[in-house]
Amino acid sequence: MSINKVAVIGAGTMGAGIAGQVANAGIEVWLLDLPGEDNANALAERGLERLRDPNQPGLISKQAEGFIHLGNTRDDFDQLADCDWVAEAVVERLDIKKDLYRRLDTVCRQDAIITSNTSTIPIRLLVEDMPAAFRRRFAITHFFNPVRFMRLLELVRGEDTDAAVIDLLADFCEQQLGKGVVPCLDTPGFLGNRVGVFAIQCALQAAFELDLTPLQADAIFGRPMGIPKTGVFGLYDLIGIDLMSDVVQSLVDILPDSDPFHAEAARIPLMTQMIANGQTGNKQGQGFYRDNATGREVLNLHSMQYQDAPRLNLPLAETAEQQGVKVLLADDGVLGQFAWRVLSRTLSYAVSLIPEVGKGPVGIDDAMKLGYNWIKGPFELIDEIGVDAFIDKLEADQLDVPDFLAETRGSSFYRVEDNELQARQYGGSWQAISRPDGVIRFSEKRQTMQARNSCAVASWYDLEGIALVEFHSKANALDADSMAILDDALSEVDTKGLRGLIVHNDAQHFSCGVNLQAVREFFRHEDMDGLDRFLKAFQETVHRMQNAAFPVVAAPVGMSIGGGFEVVLHARQVICHANSVTGLVESLVGVVPGGGGCKETLYRWIELLNCSDDISEACWKAFMNLAYGKTASSPIIAKKQAMLRPHDRFVINRDRILGEAIKAIDDAAGQVAFERPDLSLPGRPVFEEMVKWLEQSRDKGMFTPHDVNVGREMARIVTGGDIDPGTVWSEQDFYDAERRSFLTLVATDATRERINSMLDAGSPVRN
Ligand code: NAD
Repeated sequence: MSINKVAVIGAGTMGAGIAGQVANAGIEVWLLDLPGEDNANALAERGLERLRDPNQPGLISKQAEGFIHLGNTRDDFDQLADCDWVAEAVVERLDIKKDLYRRLDTVCRQDAIITSNTSTIPIRLLVEDMPAAFRRRFAITHFFNPVRFMRLLELVRGEDTDAAVIDLLADFCEQQLGKGVVPCLDTPGFLGNRVGVFAIQCALQAAFELDLTPLQADAIFGRPMGIPKTGVFGLYDLIGIDLMSDVVQSLVDILPDSDPFHAEAARIPLMTQMIANGQTGNKQGQGFYRDNATGREVLNLHSMQYQDAPRLNLPLAETAEQQGVKVLLADDGVLGQFAWRVLSRTLSYAVSLIPEVGKGPVGIDDAMKLGYNWIKGPFELIDEIGVDAFIDKLEADQLDVPDFLAETRGSSFYRVEDNELQARQYGGSWQAISRPDGVIRFSEKRQTMQARNSCAVASWYDLEGIALVEFHSKANALDADSMAILDDALSEVDTKGLRGLIVHNDAQHFSCGVNLQAVREFFRHEDMDGLDRFLKAFQETVHRMQNAAFPVVAAPVGMSIGGGFEVVLHARQVICHANSVTGLVESLVGVVPGGGGCKETLYRWIELLNCSDDISEACWKAFMNLAYGKTASSPIIAKKQAMLRPHDRFVINRDRILGEAIKAIDDAAGQVAFERPDLSLPGRPVFEEMVKWLEQSRDKGMFTPHDVNVGREMARIVTGGDIDPGTVWSEQDFYDAERRSFLTLVATDATRERINSMLDAGSPVRN
């Protein structure tokens, strides 16, 4: 059996999200909710409306919407008769779910799979009244919000569920819906929320106990621990302080009294007060943080007043982010105590769940990485700290040492043996980490390899005869050293007979662009020649990618913006993720793309519009992309914006990108070096029109004065500027023009102010 038609019941947050992801996979899906009074499909329509939210689009394209059919459970229930999979995502009420299953059993095919998205109700209870045949095809598919973006899917098998049903769901959700499927036992909270909510609660309680401000707590329980920078108070605001309190309560209700979670779940009076005041977080515009016209404010937990929230520059956090959590644990100040309080309890708790929730560490680590966006899972963090060091520190504080941790003394939870990555199992045996065919996580693969050349910010490896270049600086920002590694790999492919080159990494984001700190160093020392040399070397490297005599594939995940996207633009083919975000956002920080980005944007618009002699329209399109700093939130949109080319591809599961990139190197279909031809430029008249448009936009309040200066330089590059129409430019002329404009802008105070505020305050000034 295969899954070709799906129905989702309940069009709330989760149901709409699940239907959206099924549609993103190009599969027909019915989305049903209760009938409305005036408009029978009103609730389902509202679900679709949420998927259209431009701030967090649940759909990868307008076309995907065409796969969603809206309906209600009164008029459209018979649509379920030929569905292969019915996913229930109605409210978390056992009676309502049970009623629905009884109705489903009368309509659905006898081999249709039924699943629930429940977060807290055990399968046993869900299906206790249902016939055996129903129980055999029933499972829990626990998606995370937002469904399009969260990679984790916990797949829970009931006592009676057929193995074939689980296999089919696992394959479908992994390959078609792009999820990282983690098999779970039917234990309370499964894996992600059991450990994730524990960690959040632990951080919250510790912050109050140690009297930290939200800013301090979030500065530590964030990037320095490999946790998203929203931290704990920011996350409470994001989820909603009221909703998060309900989540905590639901775990309190289902976990046994002996579970250490109860100690972390105590209600905090101040938060009860905040809920009563309507300070429930982002949805109310105020929680622990709130935005005002000039920036962000933070709640003073003593006075309950909001005050300015300057960016905290904590050296401890900065060092820990670069060197790892050990740095936090070595600190004997209050921030170190906070880190230890959170890590000691959370990591111990995770270990103590073995063997109740599984035999080894992989499930929990995967759940935290895919469901909570942690860089490392709890067991990987203990390995980083050192198992023995961790136990010693627990013992010194007279804290419990869970069995699985105690038996691991002198060893680790992961090891590389016989060239494979293995995980320790409860009882001491080792098991190779196995992933579905075609799934390769480079973060795992790398552990079994030696870099051929490496520096602090980038490395390259020989991956079975292909050079793989990985950036690994903070946010994967690019500097001269990263480009030197890329350049070295390009030379080696040429000389050492490798099959091609892939640029890829398994981080949250491929690259946020050129390292602005490095740019600042140049202007602080007024070293404009140095800056010009850096840009020239960058251009030469990407030009070598574009013109290589061998296949070159960029395989980016997450964001590739600015200079990061310029690297992508020069690969002969791009294999990216369905959620990859691309764009040249340099205008924000007051510069032009200086690594071939302006040039490529123009040539790609010429290709897309199929321009012949007159390229004015392409110049305008390129100018608009650049001046607005446009980004594309999916590869489909990126193709319409001339950011990607027709033979560039995307895959829905980011764990399959590297495998597909390797195949693309070997097929090399459609991959050609793309030396760009000379162009006859529209010159002065179009340039002047663009400048006029910029000034008018400024007068209407759409652009700031410095936006006009930046836009003028972009117009100058794509039209040729103050030159006669018909003047011919080579590709090199565009590279030179980009560098000239870049240097012109960096010489201005306004650009320097933007770069400084980006680096010091986290966002650029609008000057
Ligand atoms: P929600 O309140 O946003 O949506 C529930 C929807 O179900 C509503 O639109 C409601 O009208 C509809 N509904 C209620 N009774 C119905 C019925 N008999 N037939 C058809 N529709 C009915 O809830 P949600 O957050 O989307 O949660 C849905 C399920 O997913 C719950 O089981 C919840 O535990 C689980 N879950 C939620 C999250 C989350 O982050 N929100 C994450 C994972 C799992």
